[in-house]
Amino acid sequence: MENKMEKIISLCKRRGFVFQGSEIYGGLAGTWDYGPLGVALKNNIQNLWWKRFVLDREDMYGMDAAILMNQNVWKSSGHVAGFSDPLVEDLKTKKRYRADHLLEDAGVDPKGMKFPDMDKVIKEKGLKSPEGNPLGEVRQFNMMLQTSIGAIQDDSSVSYLRPETAGGMFVNFKNVLDSLHPKLPFGMAQIGKAFRNEIAPRDFIFRVRELEQMEIEYFIKADSWKENFEAFRKEVWEYTKDVGLSQDKVHELEVADEDRAHYSKRTIDFEFDFPFGKKELYGLAYRTDFDLKAHTVGSTVDLSYFDEETKERYVPHVIEPSFGVGRTLLAVLSDAYTEDNLGGEVRTFLKLSPKVAPFLVAVSPLLKNKPELMTKAREVYNAMRKVFPGRVIFDDNGNIGKRYRRQDEIGTPYCVVIDFDTIEKNTGVTIRHRDTGEQERKSVEEVIEYIKNNI
Ligand code: ATP
Repeated sequence: MENKMEKIISLCKRRGFVFQGSEIYGGLAGTWDYGPLGVALKNNIQNLWWKRFVLDREDMYGMDAAILMNQNVWKSSGHVAGFSDPLVEDLKTKKRYRADHLLEDAGVDPKGMKFPDMDKVIKEKGLKSPEGNPLGEVRQFNMMLQTSIGAIQDDSSVSYLRPETAGGMFVNFKNVLDSLHPKLPFGMAQIGKAFRNEIAPRDFIFRVRELEQMEIEYFIKADSWKENFEAFRKEVWEYTKDVGLSQDKVHELEVADEDRAHYSKRTIDFEFDFPFGKKELYGLAYRTDFDLKAHTVGSTVDLSYFDEETKERYVPHVIEPSFGVGRTLLAVLSDAYTEDNLGGEVRTFLKLSPKVAPFLVAVSPLLKNKPELMTKAREVYNAMRKVFPGRVIFDDNGNIGKRYRRQDEIGTPYCVVIDFDTIEKNTGVTIRHRDTGEQERKSVEEVIEYIKNNI
């Protein structure tokens, strides 16, 4: 389905969703810029997440921690020593490739393989680089992006752009305890950027170097981990419904013992049928007390919790659901991308849920050069904007057919048109439905009610 991806990437550029990062300078691999419609879609995706996991719950505490952190955070968490990918070099061009990707491309499943196993299989099979050259040894390659802070560059000035948002929550566990006094179980939630020096950024916004995550660290008593894990498992599914993903394209993968991170006792990957295959969308992990214990040792600050009820002091365990913003956006876009035949013409449209579509409704005058239509259209637009702030677009570009096509392509569920009957006969406006192309007449009040009931 390469073709479908090309069409999505081209639609994203053409309609202002996502652009190649630094495009006019030839780009920067693994970076993408969200344009006006991409931002609108992304905000809706993030707001639905924040609503479900923070606003609608009493046990969740929002955070926004700094991207740059003391380098010791990442030493304690194990990232400095172990956040690495298996890498293999083309001995001729010196280009580096992900060993697991080369194995996958050769029809070998690399799951569960350690670095030496990968090396063995590559040698046994006589695999070559994509350019057809011999390959070197498989090595570990740390994926953290390093930077240095301050005027002098030495070991003490080293910092990293965080590789996940989680660290910012663990190091603030005590601050939240001391300032808000939450009782266990409770969670901390954060949406923010993370950075990974991916060797092979690919598949558009699926694997990037600058990414955005939505993560929760949910602190629990050890013996309650199974029920809390189950509860979040259900909530992850609910969120996939919130953003309108086809449920039959989402799959759970129980991650095998040998593939789990060393601290995790159980991990489920939620996978999605992307046009380029079934790949990880989200992760749900039981991280035990690994993180708080590691940061207690590393910082020498006590990160335990005193349970008033049982009068016990212990280090909480953690359930971590982790969501990628870009991967959600790509799943939503690829799921919504549709081509059909409407009135004898092939059309492309995004069948987006009204909950995530950049705009809920477009308002247009039938003709641009008729002041009476224009005045009424702006009046209707302003009235609707008050009810759906930021979700109504005024569109008077080109003829009405072109406007419908354009709104279809950006996934606007409804188009409202003000015509002569609206003014002369007071018969209301027309509302056109994106998915069927059908139109009906309703009063403005009825249209507003209708849209409210269909979000
Ligand atoms: P993968 O196996 O695909 O590299 P991961 O298992 O390393 O992903 P996690 O560390 O569990 O990913 O990160 C949590 C979530 O962050 C992922 O489920 C995904 O949605 C998102 N994510 C991780 N890496 C990237 C990336 N390079 N580009 C875009 N999103 C990412």
